[in-house]
Amino acid sequence: MAKRDYYEVLGVSKGASKDEIKKAYRQLAVRYHPDRNQGDKKAEEKFKEATEAYEVLADEKKRQTYDQFGFSGVEGMGGVGAHDFSSVFRDFEDIFGDFTGFFDSFFGGGGRSRNRRDSRSKSSARRGSDLRYDLQISFVDAVFGTKVEIEYIRNESCSACRGIGADRGSGRSICPTCSGSGQVRRSSGFFSIASTCPTCNGEGEIIEHPCTVCNGQGLVKKERRIKVTIPAGIENGKRISIPGQGDGGVNGGPSGDLYVYIHVLPHEYFERNGYDIYCAIPISMTQASLGAEILISILENNKKLKVRVPPGTQNGKILRLKNEGVPHLHNSSRRGDLYIKIQVHVPTKISGRARSLLQELAEVTGENNNPKPVRLSDL
Ligand SMILES: [Zn+2]
Ligand SMILES: [Zn+2]
Repeated sequence: MAKRDYYEVLGVSKGASKDEIKKAYRQLAVRYHPDRNQGDKKAEEKFKEATEAYEVLADEKKRQTYDQFGFSGVEGMGGVGAHDFSSVFRDFEDIFGDFTGFFDSFFGGGGRSRNRRDSRSKSSARRGSDLRYDLQISFVDAVFGTKVEIEYIRNESCSACRGIGADRGSGRSICPTCSGSGQVRRSSGFFSIASTCPTCNGEGEIIEHPCTVCNGQGLVKKERRIKVTIPAGIENGKRISIPGQGDGGVNGGPSGDLYVYIHVLPHEYFERNGYDIYCAIPISMTQASLGAEILISILENNKKLKVRVPPGTQNGKILRLKNEGVPHLHNSSRRGDLYIKIQVHVPTKISGRARSLLQELAEVTGENNNPKPVRLSDL
């Protein structure tokens, strides 16, 4: 098929200005854009034809040569067919990869950075990922702290290739998919969207002979055991960060961190609010009335605490024991308080003697058979 004149292709005159050429190409590119004409071979041809014409006419030097010598002139310069186009037109992704700059210029994007590859190569050392470990601990361990050994899988630098990913003696070469930019452009309508190149994962380079141990990843999965110190006073939902214990870095990058998320299991009798602890203790009617000294088991192993119940303690009274609560995080000399809610037990099974004593008590103290209500808010 004979080639059509570039001016004819774009529908502009020989003397057309740069802007006219740009405008004409834009119209054609939008109309014949492969995304809008999927599977339409004719549109594809038109699009290529227009793109080729634009590539030459938009370049002052190429345009001059073309004006003087026609197709043979620009071909001789490597302008048409010879360099980009034969390969570029193999698939549309490549077209948009190469034409990004000028699509951007239509939309005021300012074109892409030419230094992209350079900055990429320097940053190919990547920090390893942070990892999360969920750890369940008991209520008591959260209050007083403990040491827990945890086991997890992480990516570590491959010793066979020293984390580089390439076999001994083989190097890296520029990625053929993205030509080293680390990005591919996908077009939607006539907007193009950059995404990380799938071949090189955005590195712009590929490994010629990948290390067989790690398949070129530079990392291998390894089981790891470490001891984690749980500080006294830690609360449910908090995390402990352990620097450098996450995934290993790539190409000499630093390791990520490990985050241990703390899940505190509830206690059967004790509850916590900040650094204070709450519990409820039953006492007898007589203890409540006469007062008593009782021993209660507290969180610390086998430790009992002597609690003085004052005479006349009512049901629901709260006793506060200072400094018997949770040690403050990172300052265990300070502690919260322990609150004890008193529950007065009324005897239900009463033997003969107890019954007569209670009856005697009732007679002595006198019973009020016409009590006045109390305010609910006073309860
Ligand atoms: Zn390796
Ligand atoms: Zn690539």
